[in-house]
Amino acid sequence: MSRPTILRVPPLSPQLHDTVGERYDAVDPTDLPARAADVVGIVGSNAGQVGSDLIASLPNLGVIANHGVGYDNIDVPVALARGIAVSNTPEVLDDAVAETAIALLLAVRREVVVADRFVREGRWPAGPYPLTAQVAGSRVGIVGLGRIGQAVATRLEALGCTVSYHNRRQVDGVPYAYAASPVELAASVDSMVVVVPGGSATDALVDREVLDALGPDGVLVNIARGSVVDQPALVAALQDGRLGGAGLDVYADEPNVPAELVALDNVVLLPHVASGTHVTRAAMRELTLANLDAWLADGTLRTPVPEMGQ
Ligand code: NDP
Repeated sequence: MSRPTILRVPPLSPQLHDTVGERYDAVDPTDLPARAADVVGIVGSNAGQVGSDLIASLPNLGVIANHGVGYDNIDVPVALARGIAVSNTPEVLDDAVAETAIALLLAVRREVVVADRFVREGRWPAGPYPLTAQVAGSRVGIVGLGRIGQAVATRLEALGCTVSYHNRRQVDGVPYAYAASPVELAASVDSMVVVVPGGSATDALVDREVLDALGPDGVLVNIARGSVVDQPALVAALQDGRLGGAGLDVYADEPNVPAELVALDNVVLLPHVASGTHVTRAAMRELTLANLDAWLADGTLRTPVPEMGQ
């Protein structure tokens, strides 16, 4: 029996790229349009667009398996309108991403990166490093108390923080105070962690008003998507001292990071690596391919995106 033809939409990790090549008849964008009619499935990741043009060019496409929980890279309405199944990788990355949020918050508040530089540059003998702000006892607001947001919250509790949150809907059964808007949340906390999905519904959800409400002693941590924060407003707030600091894993135009951010000492910058541990990426790979295999076997998915309504 011939193997199903799967399109690899770059960039994929070398492991995922190679595994798809071993298990299926793998094709790449350079094989299109010659092989377009053969393609029944796509494997992609959040850094590679699966837009309406690509979907329209693949007449026999039946499944899009996304390696990542966020899928704002996929035109889901267009896919669903054609009956194409879409999966993502929820839960398996919650621990790694939550850890990254905590790492950024601690790094900004305790000035871990700047203090490390202080030691490396031989400046310690000239005098002690200045005092920093403590995370224990501080108030942290979470925008997006979903799977990852709740994993961040339990870690913050363990650190001795008071947690509150904003979602569109209040979450039942959690011991955290609810704020009706991002501005209301920002005005009531010392630090804010953003972990909502990207896409048009959350575009610039964190804007100048929210940043000003967080204030000159406030810290913003963004592990969601660059689009969720108004990046020019963030840069201006940091430069003007209207915001105390930021820890960022995601940006408006990755992999390009504005020089203004790079120049600031009160900002810690990561290259979109929140889920990037060996164990988590292996679990994400496995779940991506389990979805693909389930669909190929009987048309089901292990973890369909919520829009599929299953
Ligand atoms: P969930 O769907 O479990 O949680 C999302 C939360 O966001 C929900 O609580 C939801 O509540 C809230 N939310 C959604 N839209 C809005 C809105 N417009 N305003 C306010 N709150 C909103 O997702 P996960 O926790 O699994 O993942 C969250 C996101 O984190 C992913 O979509 C992805 O973009 C990002 N992510 C980033 C990674 C990285 O590498 N930096 C890695 C993994 C994920 P409600 O519906 O009530 O509003």
